[in-house]
Amino acid sequence: MDTKELSAKVGACPAEAGQDVSKYGISARNITEKGYCRENLVPRHAPQDGPAGEADACERSAIGRALGILGDRWVLLILECAFLLRIRTFAGWRDELGISESVLAARLKELVRHGIFTPAAYRDGRTRYEYRLTGAGLRLWSFLVAIHGWERDWADRPGLLTLIHDTCGHEARPYLVCGACREPMSARDTSTERGPQVSIARIGLPRHHRRTLRGDDRTDYLGYCPHSMEILGDRWSTAVLAAALLGVKRFVDFQHELGIAPSVLATRLKLFVDLGVLAADSCRLYRLTDKGLAFFEVFAFLADWAQRELPAPEHTGLIITHGPCGARLHPVLLCRACDGELGRDEIHFEVSR
Ligand SMILES: [Zn+2]
Ligand SMILES: [Zn+2]
Repeated sequence: MDTKELSAKVGACPAEAGQDVSKYGISARNITEKGYCRENLVPRHAPQDGPAGEADACERSAIGRALGILGDRWVLLILECAFLLRIRTFAGWRDELGISESVLAARLKELVRHGIFTPAAYRDGRTRYEYRLTGAGLRLWSFLVAIHGWERDWADRPGLLTLIHDTCGHEARPYLVCGACREPMSARDTSTERGPQVSIARIGLPRHHRRTLRGDDRTDYLGYCPHSMEILGDRWSTAVLAAALLGVKRFVDFQHELGIAPSVLATRLKLFVDLGVLAADSCRLYRLTDKGLAFFEVFAFLADWAQRELPAPEHTGLIITHGPCGARLHPVLLCRACDGELGRDEIHFEVSR
């Protein structure tokens, strides 16, 4: 088998320094989100394609908005291509992903609207446009690296990319630590404070794209992350897992927190049990397995990015704290080989074909 090594720097700018973590609130005021009925909390209709209205965006919390933007299979694949292969052009994504032009155009438009890409004209015989990651877009690198790490550790997929730490020259195998005390951090040693009106898992709503679960299983040589896609590529799945990571265990509590139809909830819970992310016991309690708990690393970076980059209502409803030191969530990735902090400009992926 021919093996061709590609190297792709992750992002182009120096690593961001001086991270400021000021608040980690999740708004409770999502209960009357467009498309959901306050009384029975069941979707009135399927979510529609196309950008959400600004009013809708303003009502949602930062994490809810982040899941709304990123909780989509195509969006994640577009971002992976941008980071790993430095794809910047419409034709580049279309050819790499086999994505339809209308779907790609809609996703790029949305990513531009959310300030993750910015279009830039360049001359190539005639004027063309490319899409460059903005500062906010580039700061998604740790979220994507965390997805890669979870997939590497838990999805048992041969051929996944290898992440190299340039500073020490070894495979990074990143692990999560608390930015304040530099000790390893997990879902087990973090606690969540909820405001009195917080409906925690409403953070996952609404999603603006239709998606078919487990559909379109395109095989890809880059080792994109299909297990993560099952979780992050679907709005209900992300909401269910977010609720589980924040302590929800009982079927009725998921229902209550999510405002999710029982049949939809049952489907997602079964999916997570099948994926080995949740385990159901005889009392219908759904507990996170080690694999599910490990997804906290991905969630932590999603929450962190959301709180930094996305505007949200003032009232803070949810604060995630690292128990041993008492500091608010500030996730940092360290290299397992040298224990140094990973910076975006100090790592690259090696792609085997
Ligand atoms: Zn700490
Ligand atoms: Zn290292």
